[in-house]
Amino acid sequence: MEVLVTIELPDDLLAKIRRQHNVTTPSGNLPMPAEELRSLIKGKHGLLCTITDRVDKGLLKEADSLLVVANYGVGYDNIDVEECTKKGILVTNTPDVLTDATADLTMALILAVARRVVEGDARVREGRFHAWTPFGFLGTDVCGKTVGIIGLGRIGKALAKRAQSFSMTVLYYKRNRISREEEAHLNIKYTEFIDLLRQSDFVSLHVPLTKETYHMIGASELAAMKREAFLINTSRGAVVEEEALVRALKQGIIAGAGLDVYEHEPDVHPELLNMKNTVLLPHLGSATKETRRKMAERAVTNLLAALSNERPRDCLNCDRVKKGNS
Ligand code: NAP
Repeated sequence: MEVLVTIELPDDLLAKIRRQHNVTTPSGNLPMPAEELRSLIKGKHGLLCTITDRVDKGLLKEADSLLVVANYGVGYDNIDVEECTKKGILVTNTPDVLTDATADLTMALILAVARRVVEGDARVREGRFHAWTPFGFLGTDVCGKTVGIIGLGRIGKALAKRAQSFSMTVLYYKRNRISREEEAHLNIKYTEFIDLLRQSDFVSLHVPLTKETYHMIGASELAAMKREAFLINTSRGAVVEEEALVRALKQGIIAGAGLDVYEHEPDVHPELLNMKNTVLLPHLGSATKETRRKMAERAVTNLLAALSNERPRDCLNCDRVKKGNS
């Protein structure tokens, strides 16, 4: 069959696909430009792609032979899953393998923004570290504070464990409350959305980007937070209304923000760049050698399973795609 791979893959994994199928890879710069993707999708049975590729109605119109979209990543807001389902195209993602790396990075953002790690690093590099002083460069304690986790799924739960090892109290909010037994086991407390915002010293976002979570944090949610609180976002940029966040940071409505993702990625609101109370990362959540390798393995395994007419392990719509396609 014909397979289009839009990303760089380790050689052995690319060879694994090539042993069974004809593979087309990007001809030039990455991410693959939308026009190139559109021109190459015709006649392809498999697509291995990632967050920077938009698999929308327009692209799917050109996809006359597509059987599977194997996404390299757990979030799949770049893919119109409903349209794929209507067209009998399977969609897969790569959950679990990036959970720990993303939770680690979230904890790193909490620590960095509270303890002014990036500002401190810059101070030393600029040759402006002249002496230790009792009241210079003071940050905020993390230990003993409360973190409010919005979206307690795989990554949210992994963050809860890490936060507890820093003696933090953990509150959470999601649409479907977990069982009282699991809450007791995890030592976390379910809190209504608005109460979580009011009570937390760190609000950390771990929801997928959907119609429902788009701009879930806007001006009124930021106003509900404590003035000393920090917003941490390693989910998706558009979960936060970035303009409102900039205003809240400028006006001291919240104390700071640690961000890995942006509403108009890769563009970052210019005012965020000039703020000392922000730590800004270039979407690094899963960016470790080990994790990216595992993501590639999972995406390739899912792709090959679907093309062999087997049910892929991480199928998002297998139950809804009509039999005969899957
Ligand atoms: P997950 O296991 O599916 O967890 C998502 C959680 O969000 C669930 O607890 C879900 O619970 C909750 N949720 C969904 N819609 C909600 C809503 N409208 N209101 C409140 N809670 C809602 O996903 P995950 O593996 O933890 O990943 C979470 C997200 O992190 C991904 O979708 C991806 O966008 C992002 N991510 C980013 C990076 C990065 O590089 N920065 C890396 C990995 C993942 P209910 O259904 O009960 O509400």
